[in-house]
Amino acid sequence: MNSKLPMTDVLIIGAGLAGMSAALSLPPQLRVTLLSKSRFEECASAWAQGGIAAVLDAGDSVAKHVQDTLIAGAGLCDEAAVRQILEQAPAAMAWLQGHGVPFSCNADGSLHLTREGGHGQRRIAHAADRTGHAVHTALLQACQSRSNLTLLENTAALALLQDAGGPCTGACTGAWLRMADGSEQQLQARHTILATGGMGQIYPYTTNPGTATGDGLAMAWRAGCRLQDLEFMQFHPTALQINGKAAGLVSEALRGEGALLKLPNGERFMLRHDERAELAPRDIVARAIWAEMAEHGLAYVHLDISHQSRSWLEQHFPGVMALCAAHGIDIASQPIPVAPCAHYACGGIQADVDGRTEVPQLYAIGEVARTGLHGANRLASNSLLECVVMGRAAAQHIAGQPLDSSYKLHSNYRNPDNGFSGKSSSNIEQELRQLMLTHVGIVRSNQGLARAAEQLALWRAQLQDIDAALRNQLDVCTLMVHAALQRQQSVGAHCNSDYPTREMLAA
Ligand SMILES: Cc1cc2nc3c(=O)[nH]c(=O)nc-3n(C[C@H](O)[C@H](O)[C@H](O)COP(=O)(O)OP(=O)(O)OC[C@H]3O[C@@H](n4cnc5c(N)ncnc54)[C@H](O)[C@@H]3O)c2cc1C
Repeated sequence: MNSKLPMTDVLIIGAGLAGMSAALSLPPQLRVTLLSKSRFEECASAWAQGGIAAVLDAGDSVAKHVQDTLIAGAGLCDEAAVRQILEQAPAAMAWLQGHGVPFSCNADGSLHLTREGGHGQRRIAHAADRTGHAVHTALLQACQSRSNLTLLENTAALALLQDAGGPCTGACTGAWLRMADGSEQQLQARHTILATGGMGQIYPYTTNPGTATGDGLAMAWRAGCRLQDLEFMQFHPTALQINGKAAGLVSEALRGEGALLKLPNGERFMLRHDERAELAPRDIVARAIWAEMAEHGLAYVHLDISHQSRSWLEQHFPGVMALCAAHGIDIASQPIPVAPCAHYACGGIQADVDGRTEVPQLYAIGEVARTGLHGANRLASNSLLECVVMGRAAAQHIAGQPLDSSYKLHSNYRNPDNGFSGKSSSNIEQELRQLMLTHVGIVRSNQGLARAAEQLALWRAQLQDIDAALRNQLDVCTLMVHAALQRQQSVGAHCNSDYPTREMLAA
């Protein structure tokens, strides 16, 4: 164990869009340390395809964007937070453009806006179908040029440090880290920001990067933060399926442009499930595909956009075309094998729009946070927006705190946790993911959730000396199962067959 106690003014755990937005918005006189558990590119932000929702058209209004968001959230959004975040969208877009993000533009130089499911207007700014890559590249370059930022790749936070108050009351004073060379050390910080992204990796099929194991959620919970809405895991209906694995996302914009969902025999099926067919909301399409796969014993269904010409596809969907081509699929002439998979965590660490949590000096921003913007179901393209707005707001809040020169960082920490070098069991990780898919997947039941809770309790009791990564996943899965058991209704992304909705009974 390295006993040195280095210090930083602000420790940002996570270098996706939320973390980088905060880092770039902090005053240059603050020393900032920005961590990425893996390589910088290994984050959901860099992988996003569709775009960023913002009211930028004269015919649109914040009130309409708010309304669309509340409808998607199925009545469980926090309307004040929704309004606060969406009002900031034009400023967030201007800030991104100021950092040189090359958004797609019209011939007159204005931003090209596209439309996505659930949005009543054209309000999605994008960079072709590789928006995340464009945003991430521009911001990473900006971070690399700032002398007050220290960027550390392959460095994982394992637990949060707290002063004498301990969980619930003790202020957060940094984190316990595993460095790129495998050594472990504490890094003390005046302010700590969790920007660790989602938790899709607790399922066997996910669009999320390998880093999305819910570390931030587990660390915050152990430090005394409340987690909320964890039961609302959004499943994306169309992930590319190759050899039984999710190989990437096939944007729902394809369905917006007329792509049809079919069984392998060529038969369309969406009209059997919803009169809006392929353009029904994301959760309905995901459940319909899931039901067809179960009924016909399929590992995937087909998404067919071959009615569009090759040149049109090259212009509109270069990313999806390249992704499929890398797996030998020519989307201009062949259907794409797709299946639903875990995509977005609507819930997370309870935080306000400035990212403030219930633990002093600890902030949570981006996908790891729960502000109330998404309610029971995220409206497409609101999440990248939330990252930028919260990152900037958290930075502004920190900048407003007095920089007390007499501020003392403590040196006699208790070891925040045991077992960092414990056993990692890939067998259990696989079993855990399968358990989550079977019992806490797209359609749940009380009996299945109870079974999952029982198995998780057994593992938690049996496995004392385990690696931090596995322990985080066990904690997060347990909290999610309990949240799902408590939600005694089917709403938004949480569907329990013991509480059928009218729409489920009709299908
Ligand atoms: C394929 C895909 C497409 C998407 N498309 C869109 C879209 O078009 N529009 C939209 O609005 N949203 C989209 N989303 C959702 C959106 O991309 C994410 O919600 C958003 O990027 C999350 O950003 P973030 O900064 O919170 O987390 P991420 O971008 O995931 O970054 C998390 C960071 O935390 C780090 N980290 C994690 N754990 C630790 C740890 N223990 N220690 C240190 N570092 C850690 C990771 O290394 C990473 O740097 C998409 C998501 C995916 C997966």
